[in-house]
Amino acid sequence: MSAKRHLTRGLRFRLTAGYALLFALLLVGTAALFRERLAYTLNSEAHDLLEQEWVAMKGYLHIEKVPKHGHIPPGCVGDWCAIWEYDKVDPDEDFAVERLRRVYLLTDVKGAVMEVSTIYQSIGIEQPKEIEAAIKSGQPVWKRRLSPHGIPYLIRAGVVFDEKHHSPFYVAVGRPMDEGEKILKRYTWMYVALIPLSLLCGCLLGWFLTGRGLMPVMQVAQAAQRITGSNLSLRIPTRGAGDELDYLILTFNRMIERLESSFQQIRQFSTDVSHELRTPITAIRGQLEVALFTAKTVDQYRDATLNSLQDIERLSQIVRALLLLSQAESGQLALQKTRLDLAAVVRDIVDQFQIPAEGARVELSADLPPECAAEVDRVQIERMLSNLLSNALKFTPAGGRVHVALHSLPESIAIEVEDTGCGISEEHIPHIFERFYRVPAQETCANPEPGLGLGLSFVAWIAKAHCGTIGVHSAPGKGTRFTVTLPAAAAEPAPVEPVPAGAASGAARGMNEL
Ligand code: ADP
Repeated sequence: MSAKRHLTRGLRFRLTAGYALLFALLLVGTAALFRERLAYTLNSEAHDLLEQEWVAMKGYLHIEKVPKHGHIPPGCVGDWCAIWEYDKVDPDEDFAVERLRRVYLLTDVKGAVMEVSTIYQSIGIEQPKEIEAAIKSGQPVWKRRLSPHGIPYLIRAGVVFDEKHHSPFYVAVGRPMDEGEKILKRYTWMYVALIPLSLLCGCLLGWFLTGRGLMPVMQVAQAAQRITGSNLSLRIPTRGAGDELDYLILTFNRMIERLESSFQQIRQFSTDVSHELRTPITAIRGQLEVALFTAKTVDQYRDATLNSLQDIERLSQIVRALLLLSQAESGQLALQKTRLDLAAVVRDIVDQFQIPAEGARVELSADLPPECAAEVDRVQIERMLSNLLSNALKFTPAGGRVHVALHSLPESIAIEVEDTGCGISEEHIPHIFERFYRVPAQETCANPEPGLGLGLSFVAWIAKAHCGTIGVHSAPGKGTRFTVTLPAAAAEPAPVEPVPAGAASGAARGMNEL
């Protein structure tokens, strides 16, 4: 990814861009709204002022008939005279009337101009038709006009009557709007200049703040990059802020911890597997070499071949067991659960083991309820019981006892396999469910036949796969008791599946069936 692309796709850039966009929208929106309000206020202020001027004008302007005799005052056109009555000595009144007459028009009902100011003339006098219509409606008329110099004027026109209130006249007064327009323009330009400036400042601040906020993330990423398969012991230090990022670091560290333990297990497993496979392979090689270089008779060849075959059988046993275990642990070995009578299954397995027990001169007994409904995978449960029973027989010297019990409780079912064998010392108990773990021979009373050390791993998996647990109690020299707890089957009226006698096919074939 190029540096530019990296920059524009980065979280920092996107956060800043988003923030800047929002900021810009807010700025423009606020400015537009504010301008609108300002324009409205200026406009209504101008209207109010003009309305006041209109009222004042009505107070000063009197329209009378031209006197029939004597002196005709100025401001008389046709039959009518417009007379401005005010205190000419008072400078304030004088000024007010002067101002009123700056933008001012007076016409008769036909639109004939009686008085008009120069400014009004320059912005244009209304057509007689327009005047007639305005007088007819009697309503105030508001309009805007533009002078030839480009100055906007607000005009307020309406009807006034003569002294006797007989004849209507059209009067218009106006005031320039350029001050308001100027304020509005100044304000607009100020904002036009300020928006990009504030936006720039906002972007810089956003860039700085997001950079600061994301810095710990970069530190975490750098620390994470240093962690590889060979140094999984590294941890990312938390910052002690107790925030979301610390939580992320903690979660990340826990994940690394789990990965480390899985890596450790895999490493241990590969070591164990190579070790386990090397022993029979070395033996086979030795026997074949002996046969090749030293055997002379057919019997010697036969012995070597037989021994090699036994070792090959052990090899394939290990491979089979490993395959099954890895299938189980990777979830490929799906359980085929059915509702069945677990007591019958256990009884059958115990029966199968009676002959090997007699051979080992161990008393094998069982205490089982007449029936116990359970929802289990029969094949796996048989495997589990076979493993536990074969271990019990293997590690119980002649004259000892092995007892199997099944307890059906409301919430669970407990299967116990107890022996009076040599037991397991405390330090080994936490490890016996690990793959390839075997208690060293000198510490056990085990017969010479070595196990694979995989049976209990599989038993533990079967219990777990049935949402159950496995526990062990052992006293060295006194015996061992394995307890498997399975969840009780949900109450169901249907009859449990009968287990045909001898269904536990070949369960007692050999030791530690996998
Ligand atoms: P193995 O094939 O060696 O029996 P397991 O996984 O079944 O492998 O058992 C692991 C180890 O646990 C055995 O090697 C043995 O030392 C010990 N163990 C298992 N069951 C018993 C028992 N009933 N009494 C004493 N030791 C036992």
